[in-house]
Amino acid sequence: GKMIPAELEKAIVAAKIDGAVPFFVNATGGTTVYGAYDPIDEIADVCEKHNIWLHVDCAWGGGVLVSSKHKHLVKGIHRADSVTWNPHKMLGVTLQCSAILLKHKDLLAHCNSMCADYLFQQDKNYDVSYDTGDKAIQCGRHNDIFKFWLMWRAKGDAGLESHINRLFDLKRYMLDRLAAREGFEMVLEEPECTNICFWYVPRSMRKMAPGPDRDYKLNLVAPRVKGLMMEAGTTMIGYQPHGNQPNFFRMIISNNASTKSDIDFLLDEIERLGEEASSEI
Ligand SMILES: *Cc1c(COP(=O)(O)O)cnc(C)c1O
Repeated sequence: GKMIPAELEKAIVAAKIDGAVPFFVNATGGTTVYGAYDPIDEIADVCEKHNIWLHVDCAWGGGVLVSSKHKHLVKGIHRADSVTWNPHKMLGVTLQCSAILLKHKDLLAHCNSMCADYLFQQDKNYDVSYDTGDKAIQCGRHNDIFKFWLMWRAKGDAGLESHINRLFDLKRYMLDRLAAREGFEMVLEEPECTNICFWYVPRSMRKMAPGPDRDYKLNLVAPRVKGLMMEAGTTMIGYQPHGNQPNFFRMIISNNASTKSDIDFLLDEIERLGEEASSEI
């Protein structure tokens, strides 16, 4: 699920030969399903060479920036022209809190400013460059970043870092538990972010040969287990198909109040309800 920089360059060259003008590359720092990090440094080399704007979508995975242990995942991000980052995802800021960060000073003001002097007076008694209202496409919006500022003040750099490190520790714990238990199969063995994608294969399906018959049945397991979870009111987990793969569970670890025993409980529930579901499938 990651961009291959050499293929990117080939596509750019091919587009130019066709007379097109490639101008924008969107790399992702933590994809929504697999949690994959594109190799930003290498992609930045390609963009620099071809004079193309590099945007990095770090909506999900940008939280690693606050961890000296995990920020290597977004190595090269300082070379991006623009970055999106949702502190309401990995960092657990209350919904919603989304940022767009640009390297080019004043660009948003140049694009969006309407200079409505009945709203954004220029002759106030303070430095008006701190006013953000006139830089945005919208006008009236929450000051959502205030929640993040408050959290940062309360937890400190060290608190944010330990939040992120803990999420990755819990990911490691869950991967180890999945490997140790019967009936769980990984979609990706070593996810880069804290997304863990896996199937639960009920006992009755474990002897089936891989192929369309098994996939057909496996595809029904995750939605049925989730339905049973909702009825039981015990826990919940997301799932989805991907490409031609049958529905799989996707655990997203983003809450650092979670414990190892929560993870054990989740896997116990998937196993218990998976067996119940398999009798109907
Ligand atoms: C969640 C997510 C988005 C969407 O962010 P919004 O602020 O909800 O629009 C974009 N990109 C990725 C990779 C995401 O995971």
